[in-house]
Amino acid sequence: MSKTAESVWNNCLSFIEDNITSQAYKTWFEPIKAVKLADNALSIQVPSKFFYEWLEEHYVKLLKVALTKELGSKAKLVYVIKMENTYGNKQPFTEKIPSSNRSNSQASQEVDVPLKNKSPELKNPFVIPGIRNVKIESQLNPNYNFDNFLEGESNRLARSAGMAVANKPGGTSFNPLLVFGGVGLGKTHLAHAIGVEIKDKYPEKTVLYISAEKFTQQYIESVKKNNRNDFIHFYQIIDVLIVDDIQLLSGKAGTQDVFFHIFNHLHQNGKQVILTSDKAPVDMIDIEQRLLSRFKWGLSAELNHPDYDTRVAIIQNKLYRDGVEMPEDIVEFLANNIKTNIRELEGAIISLIAHSSFNKREITIDLAKKIVDNYVKHTKREVSIDYIQKVVSEYFQMDVDTLQSKTRKRHIVQARQLAMFFAKKFTKASLASIGSQIGQRDHATVLHACKTVDNLSSTDKQFRKYVEDLNKKLTL
Ligand code: ADP
Ligand code: MG
Repeated sequence: MSKTAESVWNNCLSFIEDNITSQAYKTWFEPIKAVKLADNALSIQVPSKFFYEWLEEHYVKLLKVALTKELGSKAKLVYVIKMENTYGNKQPFTEKIPSSNRSNSQASQEVDVPLKNKSPELKNPFVIPGIRNVKIESQLNPNYNFDNFLEGESNRLARSAGMAVANKPGGTSFNPLLVFGGVGLGKTHLAHAIGVEIKDKYPEKTVLYISAEKFTQQYIESVKKNNRNDFIHFYQIIDVLIVDDIQLLSGKAGTQDVFFHIFNHLHQNGKQVILTSDKAPVDMIDIEQRLLSRFKWGLSAELNHPDYDTRVAIIQNKLYRDGVEMPEDIVEFLANNIKTNIRELEGAIISLIAHSSFNKREITIDLAKKIVDNYVKHTKREVSIDYIQKVVSEYFQMDVDTLQSKTRKRHIVQARQLAMFFAKKFTKASLASIGSQIGQRDHATVLHACKTVDNLSSTDKQFRKYVEDLNKKLTL
């Protein structure tokens, strides 16, 4: 059977897939199409120039090995860059670039269509003479920069793409760069960091950070004041536009429309757009299709939950910057217990430092536990008296009715006392209320239970194990 571009590329792909992470494979290799095989040169089509640069920078060796396996030592790789067309005419741009893995003696191929040769610049109907001299405040927060945005598996793609954009605003195919992810995972921080870095490298560029909420307010205001055109024009002269929490435009047709026009104008003129959202484009609701499709032009990079090591690094970095020392076990405790939100992690650290310095107390595990309870919503929510009774009964393999019953059998009494003890520990309920919820007892019984548990756990090893196990289950 003779080789086709597709068959050669498919073989290369299976080799590549085995050698890199599935995330990287999906991001960088799935979008590629093999388009031509001539002599020993395989042409692959990539969606953008940046894509090509990224492949060359990170995967050229792997590509070379894969291709040599298929086509022998004379193998050549040619990139064809095909960008979705932004402007009226339907021709896609193509650019052919030979891979740097060719030997230098080979003649390099001509670039088909220079990328810069874009459609003629649209005339801006809103030009106000002299407005170029208006100084626009960036609204950037210098405290959110790349130096203190720690890298981890969870943010690697977004962070590197952000860096790439900052090095060459408007000059990569990460345009727009859309950073998405859950609450408190660093979207706003990264967005500012990109802006701050650009301002640093290119002080003459006009950078603007704005929340989608503020953008919407400004727009509504401009409609009221009848200066919508000025509003549009203001945004059209920006070189780097950063819009945070773009999901907030959902359901706001007028704002979406105006944003659409601003976006197109900026994009057409090679200006950089950076967006953040709390969801992926596919999950955004009530955002017009034409706008969603724009968001997908560049790169959507997700910020995931940080892994344990990254959490520890973030805590240590924060402590270091604040000049505070904290015992290792407490750092570990925090990293183990606050997993899904970096803002909560920081909040807990600040609160811990504040408590210990106001009250002149050492930072202890107990204090850390108390604070984590206040910061991590889910433990708070789950630990109700009902939940405690359920966990304790399960642990002793009895049902809740038995735990609440009037029996004086020792192991049942102990289970009930433990439930009362934990209800006192983990809820704000009064002794009386705890008693009434755990088998209709009075407050004195609950008080007695708490004392008994305290005593027994210091004298009885087995009992102490019960307390520790249950404590773990309840704070998980
Ligand atoms: P989001 O906008 O996604 O809700 P933020 O950007 O406001 O989240 O981040 C929440 C907090 O976590 C901020 O104080 C930010 O500095 C911090 N943070 C997030 N990611 C990192 C990181 N990778 N390294 C250091 N701090 C981070
Ligand atoms: Mg934010």
